[in-house]
Amino acid sequence: MIGWTGTASHAITLSNIVEGVTEHGYSNHLARLYTHIGESRGFTDGDSPRTPLPQHDLACDYMVSNFTAWGYDTWLDPFEFDVNFTYDNDSNSYHYADCNNVVATKWGSGGTNVFLLIAHYDSVDSGHRNVTMGPGADDGASGVAAQLTIAEAIKDYVFKDTIVFVACDAEEKDYQGSIYFRNNHVTENPAETNATTFLKSAIRACVNLDTIAYDDTNNVPQVVIGTLSGWNPVVTAVSSAMSKYTELTPRFKTGYDSSDHISFANIGIDSIHVIEYDFSDYWGDGFTPNPNYHSDFDAIDAPNYLKFDYAAEVTKGIAGALCEYATPIPPATLMETVGSNAVTVSWICAPNVDYRLYGACNLASNDWTFIQDIPATGMVTELRVELDLACVTQTMFKVIGE
Ligand SMILES: [Zn+2]
Repeated sequence: MIGWTGTASHAITLSNIVEGVTEHGYSNHLARLYTHIGESRGFTDGDSPRTPLPQHDLACDYMVSNFTAWGYDTWLDPFEFDVNFTYDNDSNSYHYADCNNVVATKWGSGGTNVFLLIAHYDSVDSGHRNVTMGPGADDGASGVAAQLTIAEAIKDYVFKDTIVFVACDAEEKDYQGSIYFRNNHVTENPAETNATTFLKSAIRACVNLDTIAYDDTNNVPQVVIGTLSGWNPVVTAVSSAMSKYTELTPRFKTGYDSSDHISFANIGIDSIHVIEYDFSDYWGDGFTPNPNYHSDFDAIDAPNYLKFDYAAEVTKGIAGALCEYATPIPPATLMETVGSNAVTVSWICAPNVDYRLYGACNLASNDWTFIQDIPATGMVTELRVELDLACVTQTMFKVIGE
């Protein structure tokens, strides 16, 4: 009878994963989302139908190609809508066509919980705001850059529960993208769930990242964890992750009623809006509020404006919270199967760890014999080593990560 022991000496720490979020990675993604002065991810501003400007769709392509390359289950969620903007000096209703949410899922392994990380990639346009070309670097590409940075950092890890990134379209059009996703891809009926439809009761949290990259460096860096109304457990989870993984001080405030989290909060999903503290002087702290909000200069190249180190810190905190929620599966979870001629030792490995396989006849003697070196594979995968029973005298095996 061959036994086994699977105590792994190397474990993934959440800090290891969070360290994959870097300022360099963040600013690189933000720069590729058409966020410079003169660029726009808005829509045409004339008669109906109003359709996406070219850079809107190029940004969409950038997200889809990255999420796909990183192994996410990636799809477009097309929709159209009519809207009459109450805040414009215009009583017309307009039809908007060719909109797309971008959805990228990292399916969990065995768990039933779902965690939504949302942001919006459209920017304000001259059709309903006083801008010419709104590049929307902060509002809301800063949140999409965080989604991409996190997705890249966690791509090689296996999680127990499911993480869904939704880059919403048409947030600036009264949250039409998140409303469409909620109405068509969230269900209360378990029989209706599938690869693109999630069970409402399984969605434990919705974290919305919108406008997270401006910081007035004259005051202590803080971040707002906002809700539409009242406290919910996501506030505590994300606040504690901010304290644990970043230098930021989290500040809770309720009454945040103008971004995509409200689409989910309105049906009872625990949702938060993560936003830069210095967006507006809610607390009377006297700093300089975001000077370029909804303007032609909400741009990555506007002087003395966005702070990538600050945005990367916010992103790290969210990555930490997401990993704590979804639970990475530890490496070196050892399994052993015995055939008539061979024993197969297999385990889930971490991406950048070399393993050594040992065997022993008597566990009590703690006398392990080295069998084989297994170099790092660069990804999370199940490694399998088959040992010929005729040649193996050991009755127990262990793997150690180096
Ligand atoms: Zn906006």
